[in-house]
Amino acid sequence: MNKNSSNKMALAPNTSNKRETVCIFGTGDFGRALGHKMIQSGYPVVFGSRSAQTSSLIPKDAEVLSHAEAAQKAAVIIIAIQRQHYNFLTPLAEILHGKVLVDVSNNLKINQYPESNAEYLAQLVPGAKVVKAFNTVSAWALQSGTLDASRQVFVCGDDMEAKQMVMDIVRALGLTPLDKGSLLAAQEIENYPLQLFPMWKFPILLSLGLTTFFFFYCLIRDIIYPYVYENKDFSFFLAISIPNRICPILALILLALVYLPGVLAAIIQLYRGTKYRRFPDWLDKWMLCRKQLGLVALAFASLHVLYTLVIPIRSFVRWRISGRIVSQALNNKTEPLNTTNAWLSDSYLALGILGFFLFVLLGITSLPSVSNNVNWREFRFVQSKLGYLTLILCTAHTLVYGGNRFLSPSSYRWYLPNAYMLSLIVPCIVLVVKFVLIFPCLDKPLTQIRQGWERKPQYSE
Ligand code: NAP
Repeated sequence: MNKNSSNKMALAPNTSNKRETVCIFGTGDFGRALGHKMIQSGYPVVFGSRSAQTSSLIPKDAEVLSHAEAAQKAAVIIIAIQRQHYNFLTPLAEILHGKVLVDVSNNLKINQYPESNAEYLAQLVPGAKVVKAFNTVSAWALQSGTLDASRQVFVCGDDMEAKQMVMDIVRALGLTPLDKGSLLAAQEIENYPLQLFPMWKFPILLSLGLTTFFFFYCLIRDIIYPYVYENKDFSFFLAISIPNRICPILALILLALVYLPGVLAAIIQLYRGTKYRRFPDWLDKWMLCRKQLGLVALAFASLHVLYTLVIPIRSFVRWRISGRIVSQALNNKTEPLNTTNAWLSDSYLALGILGFFLFVLLGITSLPSVSNNVNWREFRFVQSKLGYLTLILCTAHTLVYGGNRFLSPSSYRWYLPNAYMLSLIVPCIVLVVKFVLIFPCLDKPLTQIRQGWERKPQYSE
């Protein structure tokens, strides 16, 4: 009777400025850090511990009692204890009946247990209202006040009122609650802190794979071949020339790979005649990491710019230029300016500068602080229209760089074409398919499909 009335009182909306007592089970690192923060925010805190003795580590304004005594003093109980010790709660089930139990626990591995820790807690104490929260905030961040990176607190639970009470506490601590729905979301929330840059995995692995491939490709063509056939030692190419070949190649291929899933998705939708069927998993995942692919591409493009800036001060380049001047002087003959070459070289540089400028613009608009301030149409305009323009400019930059060398036999060593020629394959495919897709005979049905129309399949009788 006594117990029930205390619960009702605590669950009633708090109309006064005085904050309700919060109970924390466990005086470990997280329990103490959270308790400290709560006391700072004006919450009376009572700890439930196996040992009711207080220590110098425990916030001095907090009370330390046995689990049963502490639980009776509050409506909200934070379980700051590892999941494997939860069975000590079973004998307390009666006292915990009707209380809000906040599960803050994390695991050591993704999907370590068949059910989430919060669902397990709800099974152990069926009469309690379990809410998952705080697991993405670290004890260190709570204590040191460096909460900028983890200000968001994911909250989920089946009882709306209980969830609201926890979200109020989160807000009072200066954090931002994010309602993730029912307790079914707990597994996902528990997996968050265990993930290591999930969206970056594919772009990083892909760029590592491509970098390795192009490194060995250039090594064979530009260092081993001249050494074998001309006895020339160009091993110093490893420092600047080869990285400056790999970086633009990677930038262009990765930029094209940002737009390739879009054209593949369009082809699939046209083929199926509907947008209401899921894309294959690999395409879904690819689409989700386009931003990261684009940012890795931008990093390679920026490195290319830096490597290009040092070209005039390279000793090999200075030696080659002075050699030409000396040879002209010795032969008493001045080479006339080749205007075609001057045009090609200036156009190649201009296309590169413009391409890089738009590349940077795309990178800037993908930053959350910028993308949050533009509307959907503006964002789409930049990422799609300007994105394709960037791809066109960068592809043209590479094509003009190739100039008339594409057909020259000297460009092929051991039948291997120059590496930049390989980098043109994916961008050219993307641009050609995109060009075909903007023809009205394909664009019109595609737009209709994307607006929710379904094209009826034609059955022959
Ligand atoms: P901890 O320092 O090891 O503390 C755990 C506490 O649990 C102990 O101090 C102890 O408190 C209690 N405990 C230990 N064995 C017990 C048992 N057999 N029966 C009952 N109580 C027992 O761990 P922590 O770092 O504070 O983490 C606590 C929970 O918070 C974990 O679930 C963790 O996943 C989660 N979490 C931690 C962090 C973090 O940064 N540390 C961040 C987010 C979430 P008493 O001695 O007072 O009984």
